[in-house]
Amino acid sequence: MISLRQRAYTLELQRTFRVSRGASDVRENLFVEIECEGTIGLGEAAPIARYAQSCTTAARAVEQMVGRIRNPRAFSQAVEEVWVAGQPAAAAAVDMALWDLAGKRLGVPVYELLGVDPATIPPTSFTIGIDDPETIARKVDEAEPFAVLKVKLGSSDDKALLSAVRRVTDRPLRVDANEGWSFEEARANLVWLADMGVELVEQPLPAARLEEMGTLRKISPLPLIADESVANAADIPALANAFDGINIKLMKCGGLSEARRMIDVARAHGLRVMLGCMVESSLAITAASHLAPLVDWTDLDGHLLIRNDPFVGCLLLDGSVVPPPAPGLGVRTRAGAEI
Ligand code: MG
Repeated sequence: MISLRQRAYTLELQRTFRVSRGASDVRENLFVEIECEGTIGLGEAAPIARYAQSCTTAARAVEQMVGRIRNPRAFSQAVEEVWVAGQPAAAAAVDMALWDLAGKRLGVPVYELLGVDPATIPPTSFTIGIDDPETIARKVDEAEPFAVLKVKLGSSDDKALLSAVRRVTDRPLRVDANEGWSFEEARANLVWLADMGVELVEQPLPAARLEEMGTLRKISPLPLIADESVANAADIPALANAFDGINIKLMKCGGLSEARRMIDVARAHGLRVMLGCMVESSLAITAASHLAPLVDWTDLDGHLLIRNDPFVGCLLLDGSVVPPPAPGLGVRTRAGAEI
C-alpha cells in the first residue's frame, strides 16, 4: 500500500536571479512524500515554466503516477511505466522518492545502490548571475569556497560582465549563454572567451539551431555543452556531432533512473557529461549528488541560492557537493523548517 503527501513550497532566493531570459526572486517547488511499508521516501519537483509546468500540473502528475505504480520495489523501472507526458519534474520527484525508499529499506545510501564512490565527485561550479561590476566583484569574493565559477552570459554586455569577473579572480570560469547568441556572436565570443581562460561554454545558440551548432563546434576553440538542447537519453544521438558534452538535470530528464541512462548513452557517443540543476532545495540537489561520481563536471549550486532551504542533506567538501553516508538519499527536514 502506497500513500502520498505533497506540498508546494516557496523557495526564497538570496538575490534576484537574472539570466538572459529574465529575472525572479522566488521559485515554487513541490515536495513529495511517498510512504510504503512504514518507510517514507522524499522527492522534489522544480517545475520548469519554460516547458509549461507548474506546481499545480506537477502535483496532478505526481498523483497520477503514484496511483499507477504497481511495484515500488522495482524502483528503476517504476517511473518509466507510469510516466505522465510533459511532466519530467513530477517524474523526477516520484523517481527520487522511490530511490530514497529503496535505500532506506536496504539500509544503504543511494550511491551504494549505484555502485559509485563519492570521493571521486568533481568540484561544483558556483554561478555568478548577471549584475553590475561592483556586485559581481562582491559575489566572486563570497564564492571563495568554490574552485570553479560559472558566469551567465547572453546579454548585450557580455564582455564587460566576463571581464569584471576575470579582473577579480584567476579561477577557471565556465560560461552559460542560455541560448543568448546568434551564430556570428557565438563565433566571435568563443575566440575571445578562450583567451580569457574560460574552460567551456554551455548552450551558445538557441536549442532549435542544431545544424548551426554542428558548424560552430567544428571551429570552436572551447568545448560546447548542450543544456536546453537536451532533455533525456533519446535526444542524445541527434546532437552527438553538434556538442562536446551534455548537461543532465533531474528536472529535465525525469529523475535519477533516466539520468543514469543518459550518462551511459552520452558515453557511448563519446560525449562528456555535466550534472546540473535548477533552483532546488537540498533534497533534489542531494539526490543528484549521488550520481555525481559518474560525471566530468558538476554544477550543483541550486540549494546555495536559496535562504529558506527546508532540508539538510549533501555536504560541501573541498568544493564538491557530496551525499551524506546515510540510508537512501540521506536527506532530513531542517530543524524548525515549516514543511
Ligand atoms: Mg544552462
